[in-house]
Amino acid sequence: MRRVLVTGGAGFIGAHLVRALAARGDATRVLDNFITGTPANLALALGLDHAAVERALAQRDGGVLRLTDRCEAVVGDIRDAAALAAACAGVEVVFHQAALRSVPRSMAHPLETNEVNATGTLQVLQQARAAGVRRVVSASSSAVYGDTELPKHEGQVPQPKSPYAASKLAGEAYCAVYSRGFDLPTVALRYFNVFGPWQDPASEYAAVIPKFILLALRGEPLPVHGDGMQSRDFTYVDNVVEANLLAAESEAAGVALNVGAGARYTLLDLIDHLQRILGRRLEIVYKPPRPGDVRHTQADITLAQRLIGYTPRVDFATGLRRMVESMREMEGVSVRDV
Ligand code: NAD
Repeated sequence: MRRVLVTGGAGFIGAHLVRALAARGDATRVLDNFITGTPANLALALGLDHAAVERALAQRDGGVLRLTDRCEAVVGDIRDAAALAAACAGVEVVFHQAALRSVPRSMAHPLETNEVNATGTLQVLQQARAAGVRRVVSASSSAVYGDTELPKHEGQVPQPKSPYAASKLAGEAYCAVYSRGFDLPTVALRYFNVFGPWQDPASEYAAVIPKFILLALRGEPLPVHGDGMQSRDFTYVDNVVEANLLAAESEAAGVALNVGAGARYTLLDLIDHLQRILGRRLEIVYKPPRPGDVRHTQADITLAQRLIGYTPRVDFATGLRRMVESMREMEGVSVRDV
């Protein structure tokens, strides 16, 4: 049995990782400050009652809280050395997911984004090293590339366009430094627009797929920033979870690897797919383009294939159908209404 830590384990991707780790029997600890993560995500990941997790977490601030016989949680901040030290104790592998995720949020709050994503990552590495952790797998982002040529590959010089992108690039650089300079093997994974069940659809900084599905299910118009021809390599969350598990077992060190599906779809393609899944036309409202957004993303996944054996297993259309079904259940809409 491995002992692992998932920072940001109450977030969207972190909770899916916790689900996979718990399912394979790893002793899993979560460190999260619940700024965007939720007790509901942890409950879904562990098959527990939402209210019970919420009550248990509310009683604790700092210290380790047992959620199941295989899963513990620490309520705390990755910028807090003491919370991290408690979370890293006895751990073999750290899956570092905690971050402030959104590009628009970073344009509004660049310093906070840097503190959490860059300094926070440095603190995670520092405490992991002090605790004798064997390996750190850290979430980075395709945003680091900016508007470089397609498909994006790791040999390109990154051209970050937002404080978010710069902070993730800084996090990657610290990961490489701890690999090369401090003998702590690390892998940074550059996720390309991840989507799937449990993703927050309603916050100010919600990602486009959950936001569009929620609006579509409610019969409201979909806001498209710009002409809708911007494209993304939308990657189903199970593929990202698998890449993390593979990176943790690999010999790769000091590298950043693309984790995408290797295809790209425009926002108008996405709406087209949703119309087909839902069997009706969806109304669009066009809005001004958003500063900081890159125009296109598409991953070249050759290096991840070679170094960690990564192959995406769930394609865009399959993932989108699964996500609509999941959100329909959460919204309480009967599958027969479709
Ligand atoms: P999320 O917001 O759902 O999850 C982030 C988690 O980190 C949340 O649970 C949040 O509460 C926690 N967190 C934030 N700041 C913290 C802090 N200071 N201390 C402790 N916990 C903190 O986002 P997500 O989509 O699950 O993203 C997970 C990781 O993947 C992030 O590093 C993000 O940058 C990266 N990423 C995500 C995408 C995507 O499309 N979702 C794409 C590229 C990279």
